[in-house]
Amino acid sequence: MDHINIGILSIQGDVEENILATRYCFKKLSCVGVVNEINNDTQISKLDGLIIPGGESTTIAKLSTVYQLLKKLQNKINCGMPVFGICAGLILLSKHINDKKIGQTNQIHMDLLDVEVERNHFGRQQNSFESDIEIMLHKMIKTKGIFIRSPSITKIGTNVQILSKLYDNIIAVRQNNIIATSFHPELTRDIVLYEYFISMAQKYHANTQI
Ligand code: GLN
Repeated sequence: MDHINIGILSIQGDVEENILATRYCFKKLSCVGVVNEINNDTQISKLDGLIIPGGESTTIAKLSTVYQLLKKLQNKINCGMPVFGICAGLILLSKHINDKKIGQTNQIHMDLLDVEVERNHFGRQQNSFESDIEIMLHKMIKTKGIFIRSPSITKIGTNVQILSKLYDNIIAVRQNNIIATSFHPELTRDIVLYEYFISMAQKYHANTQI
């Protein structure tokens, strides 16, 4: 049976929560799909979409390089595969990375999303917080944002669309096949962002089947 295949980069971080949110979304949309943990490069060619979960961006990037995943994922995303980067995932996708305390970092990254991010912008673990937020998807959606050592997007390129702001901070963006949030939708019960992402993956799947 024809189904869409969503991968969760499974190196470190919120892997299980993303698997559950994606499955819940498939069920709600009555979409025939599978979710796979991605931890080796043989699984990449079949993917219709990839979620890079929150966690620790330096660890995820280093181990993805060791497992020779980063370059292959980069190529696939460059060829149009939808990707959803959450918190550390947003950092990993970005072109320019600063840290609130130490300034410019030289951490390994994918260099795909034309934004500058500031890591740990909202403070340390103990400064984690929840806030009501609004996201511009097909229409304006009200939801909750959970922020855990989250980055803020401090600059965007011309090709990048702002989907959400919290006060003056940009917290969600889209650039063609890339969406990214500095907050954690997998920790709320609201799957609007997963629905949005899965519809991107469905379109990609339909186009690559022709
Ligand atoms: N501050 C973390 C990092 O730089 C991201 C935190 C998160 O994903 N919740 O990787």
